[in-house]
Amino acid sequence: MGLAWLLGSGCSTKPEQKTETELSAGTAILTADPLPPRREVVAHAHALVAEAERESSASSNEKRLVAAKLFERAFRLYGEGEDGEAAANSYLRAAGENPSDDVSCDSRVRAVLLKAEVQRKPTLIVDEVDRISKGHDAGGNGMCMKQFAPLVEKAKLLRDNTPSEVGLAHVTGVEAWPGADASRLVIAASRAVPYSVRDGIDGERKYVEIEIEGATLDRIPPLLQVGGVVSHVTVGFERGALRIRAYLPGQGFRRAFHLPEPFRIVLDIARQLPGKHAPRSVSRIALDAGHGWSDPGAIGPSGVREKDVTLDIVHRLAPILAKSGIGVVLTRDGDETVSLEERTGRVNSSQADLFVSIHCNASEKAESHGVETYVLDRDRDVVASRVAARENGASVAATREVGTILANLKLDGESKHATHFADLLQRSVLTSMRLGAVNVRDGGVKQAGFYVLVGARMPSVLFETSYISNPEEESRLASPDFRQRIADGIANAIRAYKEGR
Ligand SMILES: [Zn+2]
Repeated sequence: MGLAWLLGSGCSTKPEQKTETELSAGTAILTADPLPPRREVVAHAHALVAEAERESSASSNEKRLVAAKLFERAFRLYGEGEDGEAAANSYLRAAGENPSDDVSCDSRVRAVLLKAEVQRKPTLIVDEVDRISKGHDAGGNGMCMKQFAPLVEKAKLLRDNTPSEVGLAHVTGVEAWPGADASRLVIAASRAVPYSVRDGIDGERKYVEIEIEGATLDRIPPLLQVGGVVSHVTVGFERGALRIRAYLPGQGFRRAFHLPEPFRIVLDIARQLPGKHAPRSVSRIALDAGHGWSDPGAIGPSGVREKDVTLDIVHRLAPILAKSGIGVVLTRDGDETVSLEERTGRVNSSQADLFVSIHCNASEKAESHGVETYVLDRDRDVVASRVAARENGASVAATREVGTILANLKLDGESKHATHFADLLQRSVLTSMRLGAVNVRDGGVKQAGFYVLVGARMPSVLFETSYISNPEEESRLASPDFRQRIADGIANAIRAYKEGR
Protein backbone atom coordinates (compact mmCIF):
# COMPACT_ATOMS: atom_id res chain seq x y z
CA MET A 1 0.00 0.00 0.00
CA GLY A 2 2.79 2.42 0.91
CA LEU A 3 4.44 1.94 -2.44
CA ALA A 4 1.17 2.52 -4.27
CA TRP A 5 0.51 5.71 -2.38
CA LEU A 6 3.96 6.98 -3.32
CA LEU A 7 3.46 6.10 -6.94
CA GLY A 8 -0.03 7.57 -7.02
CA SER A 9 0.82 10.96 -5.58
CA GLY A 10 4.59 11.20 -5.50
CA CYS A 11 4.92 13.31 -8.62
CA SER A 12 2.56 16.22 -8.86
CA THR A 13 4.30 18.80 -11.02
CA LYS A 14 2.25 17.96 -14.11
CA PRO A 15 -0.85 16.16 -12.88
CA GLU A 16 -2.63 16.05 -16.27
CA GLN A 17 0.27 14.46 -18.08
CA LYS A 18 0.92 12.06 -15.22
CA THR A 19 -2.71 10.94 -15.28
CA GLU A 20 -2.63 10.20 -18.98
CA THR A 21 0.63 8.30 -18.61
CA GLU A 22 -0.68 6.20 -15.75
CA LEU A 23 -3.84 5.21 -17.62
CA SER A 24 -2.02 4.33 -20.82
CA ALA A 25 0.70 2.46 -18.91
CA GLY A 26 -1.98 0.50 -17.03
CA THR A 27 -3.84 -0.26 -20.26
CA ALA A 28 -0.60 -1.46 -21.87
CA ILE A 29 0.06 -3.86 -18.99
CA LEU A 30 -3.42 -5.34 -19.42
CA THR A 31 -2.34 -6.96 -22.66
CA ALA A 32 1.36 -7.40 -21.89
CA ASP A 33 2.69 -10.88 -22.52
CA PRO A 34 4.34 -11.99 -20.34
CA LEU A 35 2.83 -10.07 -17.45
CA PRO A 36 5.45 -7.97 -15.58
CA PRO A 37 6.28 -8.95 -11.98
CA ARG A 38 3.35 -8.83 -9.58
CA ARG A 39 4.79 -5.91 -7.61
CA GLU A 40 4.85 -3.74 -10.73
CA VAL A 41 1.33 -4.65 -11.90
CA VAL A 42 -0.20 -4.10 -8.47
CA ALA A 43 1.63 -0.76 -8.04
CA HIS A 44 0.13 0.54 -11.29
CA ALA A 45 -3.32 -0.61 -10.24
CA HIS A 46 -3.07 1.12 -6.85
CA ALA A 47 -1.84 4.30 -8.54
CA LEU A 48 -4.88 4.30 -10.84
CA VAL A 49 -7.24 3.74 -7.92
CA ALA A 50 -5.64 6.64 -6.01
CA GLU A 51 -5.97 8.94 -9.01
CA ALA A 52 -9.59 7.99 -9.57
CA GLU A 53 -10.42 8.74 -5.92
CA ARG A 54 -8.77 12.16 -6.11
CA GLU A 55 -10.32 13.37 -9.36
CA SER A 56 -13.87 12.01 -9.37
CA SER A 57 -14.20 13.06 -12.99
CA ALA A 58 -15.72 11.25 -15.93
CA SER A 59 -12.55 9.29 -16.55
CA SER A 60 -12.36 7.97 -12.96
CA ASN A 61 -14.50 4.95 -13.68
CA GLU A 62 -12.38 4.06 -16.65
CA LYS A 63 -9.35 4.14 -14.36
CA ARG A 64 -11.09 2.02 -11.74
CA LEU A 65 -11.98 -0.50 -14.41
CA VAL A 66 -8.39 -0.72 -15.71
CA ALA A 67 -7.17 -1.02 -12.11
CA ALA A 68 -9.67 -3.81 -11.47
CA LYS A 69 -8.48 -5.68 -14.53
CA LEU A 70 -4.83 -5.22 -13.52
CA PHE A 71 -5.53 -6.58 -10.03
CA GLU A 72 -7.41 -9.47 -11.58
CA ARG A 73 -4.59 -10.33 -13.97
CA ALA A 74 -2.14 -10.28 -11.07
CA PHE A 75 -4.49 -12.47 -9.05
CA ARG A 76 -4.89 -14.97 -11.91
CA LEU A 77 -1.20 -15.30 -12.45
CA TYR A 78 0.22 -14.99 -8.95
CA GLY A 79 -2.73 -16.23 -6.92
CA GLU A 80 -2.57 -13.67 -4.07
CA GLY A 81 -6.00 -13.40 -2.44
CA GLU A 82 -5.50 -9.71 -1.62
CA ASP A 83 -5.18 -8.92 -5.34
CA GLY A 84 -8.46 -10.74 -5.98
CA GLU A 85 -10.15 -8.73 -3.23
CA ALA A 86 -8.68 -5.49 -4.57
CA ALA A 87 -9.96 -6.39 -8.06
CA ALA A 88 -13.45 -7.08 -6.69
CA ASN A 89 -13.50 -3.77 -4.80
CA SER A 90 -12.33 -1.83 -7.86
CA TYR A 91 -15.01 -3.47 -10.02
CA LEU A 92 -17.63 -2.57 -7.41
CA ARG A 93 -16.46 1.06 -7.32
CA ALA A 94 -16.43 1.18 -11.12
CA ALA A 95 -19.97 -0.19 -11.24
CA GLY A 96 -21.10 2.60 -8.93
CA GLU A 97 -23.87 2.71 -6.39
CA ASN A 98 -26.52 2.42 -9.02
CA PRO A 99 -25.55 0.33 -12.02
CA SER A 100 -27.34 1.84 -14.98
CA ASP A 101 -25.87 0.26 -18.09
CA ASP A 102 -24.39 -3.02 -19.33
CA VAL A 103 -20.81 -1.98 -18.59
CA SER A 104 -21.52 -1.22 -14.95
CA CYS A 105 -23.63 -4.35 -14.57
CA ASP A 106 -20.77 -6.43 -15.97
CA SER A 107 -18.44 -4.83 -13.43
CA ARG A 108 -20.90 -5.68 -10.68
CA VAL A 109 -21.05 -9.30 -11.83
CA ARG A 110 -17.26 -9.57 -11.96
CA ALA A 111 -17.00 -8.12 -8.47
CA VAL A 112 -19.40 -10.66 -7.01
CA LEU A 113 -17.80 -13.56 -8.88
CA LEU A 114 -14.35 -12.57 -7.68
CA LYS A 115 -15.46 -12.13 -4.08
CA ALA A 116 -17.12 -15.54 -4.18
CA GLU A 117 -13.95 -17.03 -5.66
CA VAL A 118 -11.45 -15.40 -3.30
CA GLN A 119 -13.53 -16.07 -0.21
CA ARG A 120 -14.52 -19.50 -1.57
CA LYS A 121 -18.18 -18.73 -0.93
CA PRO A 122 -20.41 -19.44 -3.95
CA THR A 123 -23.34 -18.49 -1.71
CA LEU A 124 -22.31 -14.83 -2.20
CA ILE A 125 -23.49 -15.12 -5.81
CA VAL A 126 -26.78 -16.70 -4.81
CA ASP A 127 -27.34 -14.02 -2.16
CA GLU A 128 -26.62 -11.19 -4.59
CA VAL A 129 -29.05 -12.59 -7.15
CA ASP A 130 -31.71 -12.92 -4.45
CA ARG A 131 -31.14 -9.32 -3.42
CA ILE A 132 -31.39 -8.01 -6.98
CA SER A 133 -34.46 -10.06 -7.83
CA LYS A 134 -36.24 -8.70 -4.78
CA GLY A 135 -35.36 -5.14 -5.77
CA HIS A 136 -33.04 -4.75 -2.79
CA ASP A 137 -29.92 -3.85 -4.74
CA ALA A 138 -28.51 -0.36 -4.38
CA GLY A 139 -30.60 1.09 -7.21
CA GLY A 140 -33.62 -1.03 -6.44
CA ASN A 141 -34.32 -1.40 -10.15
CA GLY A 142 -33.19 -5.00 -10.76
CA MET A 143 -31.14 -3.54 -13.62
CA CYS A 144 -28.42 -6.20 -13.60
CA MET A 145 -30.71 -9.22 -13.44
CA LYS A 146 -29.98 -10.06 -17.07
CA GLN A 147 -26.25 -10.41 -16.28
CA PHE A 148 -26.79 -12.31 -13.05
CA ALA A 149 -29.48 -14.73 -14.17
CA PRO A 150 -27.15 -17.14 -16.02
CA LEU A 151 -24.99 -17.48 -12.90
CA VAL A 152 -27.74 -18.63 -10.60
CA GLU A 153 -27.86 -22.25 -11.67
CA LYS A 154 -24.09 -22.60 -11.66
CA ALA A 155 -23.82 -20.96 -8.26
CA LYS A 156 -26.51 -23.15 -6.74
CA LEU A 157 -24.89 -26.27 -8.18
CA LEU A 158 -21.56 -25.20 -6.77
CA ARG A 159 -23.13 -24.49 -3.40
CA ASP A 160 -25.05 -27.77 -3.26
CA ASN A 161 -22.24 -30.00 -4.47
CA THR A 162 -19.46 -28.74 -2.28
CA PRO A 163 -20.57 -29.20 1.29
CA SER A 164 -17.09 -29.62 2.71
CA GLU A 165 -14.96 -27.59 0.36
CA VAL A 166 -16.78 -24.47 -0.67
CA GLY A 167 -15.69 -22.26 -3.53
CA LEU A 168 -13.93 -22.69 -6.80
CA ALA A 169 -11.63 -25.60 -7.45
CA HIS A 170 -7.91 -25.02 -7.26
CA VAL A 171 -5.55 -26.33 -9.85
CA THR A 172 -2.80 -27.49 -7.55
CA GLY A 173 -0.22 -28.89 -9.92
CA VAL A 174 0.82 -29.25 -13.54
CA GLU A 175 3.42 -31.95 -14.15
CA ALA A 176 4.93 -33.37 -17.29
CA TRP A 177 6.76 -36.60 -18.13
CA PRO A 178 8.62 -35.99 -21.34
CA GLY A 179 9.49 -38.50 -24.02
CA ALA A 180 10.76 -38.41 -27.60
CA ASP A 181 7.74 -40.42 -28.80
CA ALA A 182 5.18 -39.90 -26.07
CA SER A 183 4.71 -37.38 -23.29
CA ARG A 184 2.21 -37.16 -20.49
CA LEU A 185 0.88 -34.05 -18.80
CA VAL A 186 -1.06 -34.27 -15.54
CA ILE A 187 -3.13 -31.43 -14.15
CA ALA A 188 -4.20 -31.96 -10.54
CA ALA A 189 -7.17 -30.11 -9.05
CA SER A 190 -8.63 -29.83 -5.57
CA ARG A 191 -11.83 -31.38 -6.88
CA ALA A 192 -13.68 -32.21 -10.10
CA VAL A 193 -13.80 -29.40 -12.65
CA PRO A 194 -15.39 -29.26 -16.09
CA TYR A 195 -12.76 -29.14 -18.82
CA SER A 196 -12.53 -29.24 -22.57
CA VAL A 197 -9.71 -30.08 -24.97
CA ARG A 198 -9.02 -28.50 -28.32
CA ASP A 199 -6.27 -28.11 -30.89
CA GLY A 200 -5.01 -24.68 -31.76
CA ILE A 201 -2.34 -22.83 -33.62
CA ASP A 202 -0.45 -19.79 -32.42
CA GLY A 203 1.44 -18.33 -35.36
CA GLU A 204 3.42 -21.32 -36.62
CA ARG A 205 3.20 -23.28 -33.40
CA LYS A 206 0.63 -26.01 -32.87
CA TYR A 207 -0.72 -26.67 -29.43
CA VAL A 208 -3.26 -28.72 -27.53
CA GLU A 209 -5.26 -26.68 -25.05
CA ILE A 210 -7.07 -27.80 -21.93
CA GLU A 211 -9.62 -25.20 -20.90
CA ILE A 212 -10.86 -25.26 -17.33
CA GLU A 213 -13.71 -23.05 -16.24
CA GLY A 214 -14.28 -21.92 -12.70
CA ALA A 215 -10.91 -22.78 -11.23
CA THR A 216 -8.13 -20.80 -9.63
CA LEU A 217 -4.45 -21.47 -9.75
CA ASP A 218 -2.18 -22.35 -6.84
CA ARG A 219 1.23 -20.77 -7.47
CA ILE A 220 1.99 -22.65 -10.66
CA PRO A 221 4.71 -21.23 -12.89
CA PRO A 222 3.32 -19.86 -16.17
CA LEU A 223 5.89 -21.75 -18.23
CA LEU A 224 7.05 -25.36 -18.02
CA GLN A 225 9.85 -26.61 -20.27
CA VAL A 226 9.25 -30.21 -21.32
CA GLY A 227 11.17 -31.38 -24.40
CA GLY A 228 10.37 -34.19 -26.84
CA VAL A 229 6.89 -34.47 -28.34
CA VAL A 230 5.84 -31.48 -26.23
CA SER A 231 8.33 -28.62 -26.26
CA HIS A 232 6.79 -26.57 -23.46
CA VAL A 233 3.60 -25.91 -21.57
CA THR A 234 2.03 -22.55 -20.75
CA VAL A 235 -0.41 -21.98 -17.91
CA GLY A 236 -2.56 -18.87 -17.66
CA PHE A 237 -5.94 -17.20 -17.76
CA GLU A 238 -7.46 -15.91 -20.94
CA ARG A 239 -11.04 -14.93 -21.73
CA GLY A 240 -12.18 -15.86 -18.24
CA ALA A 241 -10.88 -19.42 -18.21
CA LEU A 242 -7.73 -21.18 -17.16
CA ARG A 243 -5.91 -22.43 -20.23
CA ILE A 244 -3.10 -24.96 -20.19
CA ARG A 245 -1.40 -25.29 -23.52
CA ALA A 246 1.01 -28.02 -24.60
CA TYR A 247 3.05 -26.82 -27.58
CA LEU A 248 4.02 -29.44 -30.17
CA PRO A 249 7.11 -28.87 -32.29
CA GLY A 250 6.02 -31.65 -34.69
CA GLN A 251 3.24 -34.11 -35.23
CA GLY A 252 1.28 -35.29 -32.21
CA PHE A 253 -1.80 -37.32 -31.45
CA ARG A 254 -3.60 -36.62 -28.22
CA ARG A 255 -5.77 -38.48 -25.76
CA ALA A 256 -7.20 -36.71 -22.75
CA PHE A 257 -9.15 -38.19 -19.88
CA HIS A 258 -9.55 -37.66 -16.17
CA LEU A 259 -9.05 -39.78 -13.07
CA PRO A 260 -11.24 -39.13 -10.04
CA GLU A 261 -10.29 -39.12 -6.33
CA PRO A 262 -8.16 -37.11 -6.33
CA PHE A 263 -9.25 -35.39 -9.51
CA ARG A 264 -6.64 -35.02 -12.23
CA ILE A 265 -6.76 -34.45 -15.96
CA VAL A 266 -4.31 -36.50 -17.98
CA LEU A 267 -3.18 -35.42 -21.45
CA ASP A 268 -1.18 -37.99 -23.39
CA ILE A 269 0.51 -36.83 -26.56
CA ALA A 270 2.35 -39.19 -28.90
CA ARG A 271 4.02 -38.97 -32.28
CA GLN A 272 2.07 -41.95 -33.52
CA LEU A 273 -1.34 -43.39 -32.89
CA PRO A 274 -1.21 -46.25 -30.38
CA GLY A 275 -1.00 -49.76 -31.80
CA LYS A 276 0.99 -48.62 -34.85
CA HIS A 277 4.15 -50.42 -33.87
CA ALA A 278 4.79 -53.90 -35.25
CA PRO A 279 2.84 -56.51 -33.31
CA ARG A 280 4.83 -58.78 -31.03
CA SER A 281 8.01 -56.81 -31.33
CA VAL A 282 9.18 -57.24 -27.76
CA SER A 283 12.51 -55.63 -27.07
CA ARG A 284 11.66 -53.77 -23.88
CA ILE A 285 9.37 -54.55 -20.96
CA ALA A 286 8.08 -52.13 -18.38
CA LEU A 287 7.75 -53.64 -14.91
CA ASP A 288 5.73 -51.91 -12.26
CA ALA A 289 6.17 -52.92 -8.63
CA GLY A 290 2.88 -51.88 -7.06
CA HIS A 291 2.77 -49.25 -4.29
CA GLY A 292 5.85 -47.97 -2.40
CA TRP A 293 7.12 -45.78 0.43
CA SER A 294 4.18 -44.28 2.38
CA ASP A 295 1.75 -46.53 0.49
CA PRO A 296 2.44 -50.09 1.66
CA GLY A 297 -0.42 -51.57 -0.38
CA ALA A 298 -2.26 -54.42 1.32
CA ILE A 299 -0.77 -55.80 4.54
CA GLY A 300 -1.16 -59.46 5.47
CA PRO A 301 -2.42 -60.71 8.86
CA SER A 302 1.15 -61.34 10.02
CA GLY A 303 2.47 -58.06 8.60
CA VAL A 304 3.86 -58.91 5.13
CA ARG A 305 3.58 -55.77 3.00
CA GLU A 306 2.47 -55.75 -0.62
CA LYS A 307 5.01 -53.06 -1.58
CA ASP A 308 7.93 -55.30 -0.47
CA VAL A 309 6.63 -58.42 -2.21
CA THR A 310 6.06 -56.62 -5.52
CA LEU A 311 9.48 -54.96 -5.52
CA ASP A 312 11.23 -58.24 -4.73
CA ILE A 313 9.44 -60.01 -7.59
CA VAL A 314 10.42 -57.24 -10.00
CA HIS A 315 14.04 -57.44 -8.83
CA ARG A 316 14.04 -61.21 -9.45
CA LEU A 317 12.34 -60.83 -12.85
CA ALA A 318 14.51 -58.07 -14.32
CA PRO A 319 17.78 -60.09 -14.51
CA ILE A 320 16.01 -63.09 -16.10
CA LEU A 321 14.67 -60.86 -18.87
CA ALA A 322 18.02 -59.14 -19.30
CA LYS A 323 19.66 -62.56 -19.84
CA SER A 324 17.10 -63.23 -22.61
CA GLY A 325 18.15 -59.99 -24.29
CA ILE A 326 15.00 -58.12 -23.30
CA GLY A 327 15.38 -54.57 -22.03
CA VAL A 328 13.71 -53.67 -18.76
CA VAL A 329 12.25 -50.40 -17.52
CA LEU A 330 11.22 -50.14 -13.88
CA THR A 331 8.63 -47.64 -12.67
CA ARG A 332 10.33 -47.82 -9.28
CA ASP A 333 13.57 -49.44 -8.24
CA GLY A 334 13.36 -48.91 -4.50
CA ASP A 335 10.98 -48.03 -1.70
CA GLU A 336 9.66 -44.81 -3.22
CA THR A 337 6.41 -43.03 -3.92
CA VAL A 338 5.38 -42.94 -7.57
CA SER A 339 1.83 -41.87 -8.42
CA LEU A 340 -0.31 -44.12 -10.62
CA GLU A 341 -0.44 -41.59 -13.45
CA GLU A 342 3.30 -41.04 -13.27
CA ARG A 343 3.95 -44.78 -13.68
CA THR A 344 2.17 -44.88 -17.03
CA GLY A 345 3.76 -41.58 -17.96
CA ARG A 346 7.24 -43.04 -17.40
CA VAL A 347 6.37 -46.25 -19.22
CA ASN A 348 4.97 -44.41 -22.25
CA SER A 349 8.04 -42.24 -22.59
CA SER A 350 10.31 -45.30 -22.32
CA GLN A 351 8.97 -46.95 -25.52
CA ALA A 352 8.32 -50.26 -23.79
CA ASP A 353 6.44 -52.94 -25.75
CA LEU A 354 4.61 -54.52 -22.82
CA PHE A 355 3.61 -53.24 -19.39
CA VAL A 356 3.22 -55.56 -16.40
CA SER A 357 2.02 -54.12 -13.10
CA ILE A 358 2.53 -56.49 -10.16
CA HIS A 359 0.33 -56.55 -7.05
CA CYS A 360 -1.02 -58.68 -4.21
CA ASN A 361 -4.75 -59.13 -3.89
CA ALA A 362 -6.66 -58.57 -0.65
CA SER A 363 -10.16 -59.12 0.63
CA GLU A 364 -12.09 -58.64 3.86
CA LYS A 365 -12.84 -62.35 3.63
CA ALA A 366 -9.78 -64.19 4.93
CA GLU A 367 -10.71 -67.29 2.91
CA SER A 368 -10.43 -65.50 -0.48
CA HIS A 369 -7.47 -66.88 -2.40
CA GLY A 370 -6.09 -67.45 -5.87
CA VAL A 371 -4.23 -65.84 -8.76
CA GLU A 372 -5.84 -63.30 -11.09
CA THR A 373 -4.69 -61.32 -14.10
CA TYR A 374 -6.47 -58.15 -15.14
CA VAL A 375 -6.67 -56.22 -18.35
CA LEU A 376 -7.99 -52.72 -18.64
CA ASP A 377 -11.62 -52.53 -19.57
CA ARG A 378 -14.99 -51.54 -18.27
CA ASP A 379 -15.82 -53.42 -15.11
CA ARG A 380 -17.79 -56.54 -15.88
CA ASP A 381 -18.32 -57.78 -12.34
CA VAL A 382 -18.55 -56.41 -8.85
CA VAL A 383 -15.53 -58.24 -7.45
CA ALA A 384 -13.35 -56.95 -10.28
CA SER A 385 -14.41 -53.37 -9.64
CA ARG A 386 -13.70 -53.80 -5.92
CA VAL A 387 -10.20 -55.04 -6.67
CA ALA A 388 -9.65 -52.12 -9.05
CA ALA A 389 -11.02 -49.64 -6.52
CA ARG A 390 -8.56 -50.90 -3.91
CA GLU A 391 -5.61 -50.63 -6.29
CA ASN A 392 -6.80 -47.20 -7.43
CA GLY A 393 -7.05 -45.98 -3.86
CA ALA A 394 -10.49 -44.69 -4.83
CA SER A 395 -14.14 -45.60 -4.43
CA VAL A 396 -15.93 -48.22 -6.51
CA ALA A 397 -18.05 -45.41 -7.98
CA ALA A 398 -14.94 -43.51 -9.10
CA THR A 399 -13.48 -46.69 -10.55
CA ARG A 400 -16.67 -47.29 -12.51
CA GLU A 401 -16.44 -43.75 -13.83
CA VAL A 402 -13.08 -44.70 -15.30
CA GLY A 403 -14.89 -47.52 -17.09
CA THR A 404 -16.89 -44.92 -18.96
CA ILE A 405 -13.74 -42.97 -19.73
CA LEU A 406 -12.13 -46.11 -21.13
CA ALA A 407 -15.06 -46.72 -23.42
CA ASN A 408 -14.29 -43.37 -25.03
CA LEU A 409 -10.58 -44.05 -25.47
CA LYS A 410 -11.05 -46.78 -28.10
CA LEU A 411 -8.36 -49.20 -27.02
CA ASP A 412 -9.44 -52.10 -29.25
CA GLY A 413 -6.09 -52.90 -30.87
CA GLU A 414 -4.13 -52.76 -27.65
CA SER A 415 -6.68 -54.64 -25.59
CA LYS A 416 -6.67 -57.64 -27.97
CA HIS A 417 -2.92 -58.04 -27.46
CA ALA A 418 -3.29 -57.37 -23.74
CA THR A 419 -5.91 -60.09 -23.32
CA HIS A 420 -3.74 -62.55 -25.22
CA PHE A 421 -0.74 -61.74 -23.06
CA ALA A 422 -2.89 -61.92 -19.91
CA ASP A 423 -3.96 -65.47 -20.85
CA LEU A 424 -0.32 -66.49 -21.36
CA LEU A 425 0.70 -64.87 -18.08
CA GLN A 426 -2.06 -66.44 -16.03
CA ARG A 427 -1.31 -69.95 -17.37
CA SER A 428 2.44 -69.59 -17.16
CA VAL A 429 2.55 -68.35 -13.56
CA LEU A 430 0.07 -71.01 -12.40
CA THR A 431 2.25 -73.68 -14.01
CA SER A 432 5.35 -72.29 -12.34
CA MET A 433 3.65 -72.06 -8.91
CA ARG A 434 2.25 -75.56 -9.19
CA LEU A 435 5.74 -76.98 -9.85
CA GLY A 436 6.26 -76.26 -6.17
CA ALA A 437 3.35 -78.63 -5.56
CA VAL A 438 1.20 -75.96 -3.97
CA ASN A 439 -2.50 -75.96 -4.53
CA VAL A 440 -3.22 -72.68 -6.28
CA ARG A 441 -6.65 -71.52 -7.39
CA ASP A 442 -6.95 -70.15 -10.94
CA GLY A 443 -8.92 -66.91 -10.59
CA GLY A 444 -8.80 -66.34 -14.34
CA VAL A 445 -8.33 -63.26 -16.51
CA LYS A 446 -10.64 -60.38 -15.65
CA GLN A 447 -11.36 -56.84 -16.69
CA ALA A 448 -11.57 -53.66 -14.66
CA GLY A 449 -10.64 -49.98 -14.70
CA PHE A 450 -7.19 -49.79 -13.18
CA TYR A 451 -5.89 -46.22 -13.14
CA VAL A 452 -2.28 -47.31 -13.52
CA LEU A 453 -3.03 -48.89 -16.92
CA VAL A 454 -5.16 -46.10 -18.38
CA GLY A 455 -3.44 -44.40 -21.28
CA ALA A 456 -0.60 -46.91 -21.56
CA ARG A 457 0.45 -47.11 -25.21
CA MET A 458 1.38 -50.78 -25.16
CA PRO A 459 -0.48 -53.96 -24.17
CA SER A 460 -0.77 -53.74 -20.39
CA VAL A 461 -1.82 -56.12 -17.65
CA LEU A 462 -2.12 -56.00 -13.90
CA PHE A 463 -1.17 -59.20 -12.15
CA GLU A 464 -2.56 -60.09 -8.71
CA THR A 465 0.00 -62.63 -7.51
CA SER A 466 -2.09 -64.09 -4.62
CA TYR A 467 -4.21 -62.92 -1.70
CA ILE A 468 -1.93 -61.39 0.92
CA SER A 469 -4.99 -61.21 3.22
CA ASN A 470 -5.21 -65.01 3.26
CA PRO A 471 -2.88 -66.39 5.98
CA GLU A 472 -1.73 -69.34 3.86
CA GLU A 473 -1.11 -67.26 0.76
CA GLU A 474 0.58 -64.56 2.82
CA SER A 475 3.13 -67.07 4.13
CA ARG A 476 3.77 -68.26 0.55
CA LEU A 477 4.29 -64.68 -0.63
CA ALA A 478 6.81 -64.24 2.19
CA SER A 479 8.92 -67.11 0.86
CA PRO A 480 11.78 -66.28 -1.54
CA ASP A 481 11.23 -69.58 -3.36
CA PHE A 482 7.61 -68.75 -4.14
CA ARG A 483 8.51 -65.24 -5.31
CA GLN A 484 11.14 -66.75 -7.60
CA ARG A 485 8.48 -69.06 -9.06
CA ILE A 486 6.30 -66.04 -9.79
CA ALA A 487 9.21 -64.23 -11.46
CA ASP A 488 10.02 -67.31 -13.54
CA GLY A 489 6.39 -67.68 -14.57
CA ILE A 490 6.14 -64.04 -15.70
CA ALA A 491 9.44 -64.34 -17.62
CA ASN A 492 8.17 -67.46 -19.41
CA ALA A 493 4.98 -65.68 -20.42
CA ILE A 494 6.96 -62.75 -21.84
CA ARG A 495 9.20 -65.09 -23.84
CA ALA A 496 6.15 -66.99 -25.13
CA TYR A 497 4.51 -63.72 -26.18
CA LYS A 498 7.70 -62.60 -27.89
CA GLU A 499 7.96 -65.88 -29.77
CA GLY A 500 4.46 -65.35 -31.12
CA ARG A 501 2.78 -68.09 -29.15
ZN1 LIG B 1 -1.75 -53.38 -5.15
